[in-house]
Amino acid sequence: MEEKIQQFKEWVGESDNIVFFGGAGVSTESGIPDFRSKDGLYHQKYAHSPEYILSHRTFMSNPEEFYEFYKDKLIHDEAKPSTTHIALAKLEQMGKLRGVITQNIDGLHQMAGSRNVIELHGTIYKNFCVRCGSKYPLSAVKNCEGVPYCECGGVIKPNVVLYEEALDSEDCARAVNWIKDAEVLIVGGSSLGVFPAAGMIDYYKGNRLVLINMSETQYDRRANLLIHDKLGKVFGALLDGE
Ligand code: NAD
Repeated sequence: MEEKIQQFKEWVGESDNIVFFGGAGVSTESGIPDFRSKDGLYHQKYAHSPEYILSHRTFMSNPEEFYEFYKDKLIHDEAKPSTTHIALAKLEQMGKLRGVITQNIDGLHQMAGSRNVIELHGTIYKNFCVRCGSKYPLSAVKNCEGVPYCECGGVIKPNVVLYEEALDSEDCARAVNWIKDAEVLIVGGSSLGVFPAAGMIDYYKGNRLVLINMSETQYDRRANLLIHDKLGKVFGALLDGE
């Protein structure tokens, strides 16, 4: 493992065109559960599966069920950035990291100081009325009983991409460009099972694909450097080397 971390440090040290692509595993060390780990949200009991509850169809037809789960499990505004979030923000400030492409909706990269962040699946911090389009902060969703409603009577929806919904095309185009041009692509904390986001890695053309994840993924064989360990340990070692 030490050799792998050494290699990782060398590649990061040599490049000023690094891109990070991450998922829920980046925030588990901030105390936010992921979906597919053994302690993740998919291994708890609900009347319906998370895919069903977090779908566009359920949001439209049964916002009560959607919001019960969403407020209970997906809003974590008390969380603080982890070692990984902080290290990535530092790499950006040093001019080494072009940006972070995240599937997370928790806003922790920005809280850590990252400026170039593409939130492929949106954010809990932006919300809007499905009828009139009025914008609302997180507090409007969090602090009300049950389903949040706009003054016009429309339901307020989080600006989060639900199952059955499309990704923002401009965000996708920007993310693909970053990945295509990247010298080092670091992929971390994602089961790489949610598409189309995970498929973006296919656009990487270089030979320094670093994959850091606790468990195996279907992209393991594509990695030039594969580290099955905690992100905090690997990025902590980077910060130690400063
Ligand atoms: P996932 O739950 O499918 O996979 C997370 C992966 O991270 C797992 O393979 C796990 O082994 C790994 N992991 C967990 N902790 C780790 C650590 N400390 N170091 C290294 N690896 C670690 O998550 P996903 O691939 O991002 O897909 C889930 C979807 O759920 C995403 O679309 C995301 O929007 C959403 N989600 C977001 C949050 C959040 O915003 N923090 C939390 C849960 C789910």
